[in-house]
Amino acid sequence: MHTKSIDFSKYSSIKVGSIADVMVIEKGDTIPQEPYIIGGANNLLLSPHPPPLMMLGKDFDFITTEGNELIVGGATKSGRIFSFVKKHDIAGLEFLSHLPGTLGGLVAMNAGLKSYEIFNVLNSLTIANGEIKTSLPKDAIKHGYRFAQINGVVIEARFELRRGFDAALIEEFKAMRTNQPPQPSAGSVFKNPQGDYAGRLIEAVGLKGTRAGDMAWSDIHANFLVNLGGGCFEDALYLINLAKQRVKEGFGIELHEEIEILQ
Ligand SMILES: Cc1cc2nc3c(=O)[nH]c(=O)nc-3n(C[C@H](O)[C@H](O)[C@H](O)COP(=O)(O)OP(=O)(O)OC[C@H]3O[C@@H](n4cnc5c(N)ncnc54)[C@H](O)[C@@H]3O)c2cc1C
Repeated sequence: MHTKSIDFSKYSSIKVGSIADVMVIEKGDTIPQEPYIIGGANNLLLSPHPPPLMMLGKDFDFITTEGNELIVGGATKSGRIFSFVKKHDIAGLEFLSHLPGTLGGLVAMNAGLKSYEIFNVLNSLTIANGEIKTSLPKDAIKHGYRFAQINGVVIEARFELRRGFDAALIEEFKAMRTNQPPQPSAGSVFKNPQGDYAGRLIEAVGLKGTRAGDMAWSDIHANFLVNLGGGCFEDALYLINLAKQRVKEGFGIELHEEIEILQ
């Protein structure tokens, strides 16, 4: 186990945060209980004083096949997984072409695009907690829309190996991304409430395009909080709380964050 100094104003996709020491876990290390596990920080908003953090190191960055399964390490990036399934003509993970993250983060968030979610094609997970490693079939893990109940650190996932990579789907996923702002963000800030869209609600309460310092609710997609340059945590949090308050007052709807706020 070693420690790495990470500048979250560069590492996180929203480019907010300060420099923090992150514990790096490699094979053979006992997973400590206290630190918060991070992946690629594509779904995180970090304060200047985050809790203790850990991440998986290069030993967990791997992808291979065994029999009729695809096996992926917890630190493997979506781009690498996508290149592998394309090259080896494997079906079901095409949506990773347009979804940033590491395997651990993708599984913990049950990340996806519309009806394409990572749990759809998952067989099982290996989860580490302290010195204990448990392999669990998908059905033993509670999961749903942008949620999976993972008690520990995902170190490995196994997927069904079905041939037939569908290149036509890539254009579909690309089209779904046309309303995505180009500035740094952490993707959608809020989950969509049942039967509605968080972006529609934020727009309806007049916050689309609203700015605080260098953070703003995007004028392209109102559920994206974008960093216009030197955006900071306090301004991001102010806009998030403002949207929750206005939507609650205007519609009686409680918005729930999809992003994880670490402070
Ligand atoms: C431009 C943009 C567009 C996006 N669009 C989408 C989208 O369409 N759909 C979607 O679902 N998401 C989207 N996201 C969000 C993001 O891509 C996903 O949430 C992704 O799964 C995050 O992966 P990560 O490795 O960056 O995880 P992080 O952001 O580092 O962490 C996210 C969560 O995963 C947990 N976690 C990370 N690694 C592990 C591990 N090894 N074991 C256990 N838990 C772990 C963390 O504790 C945290 O709770 C978007 C993000 C951006 C920046």
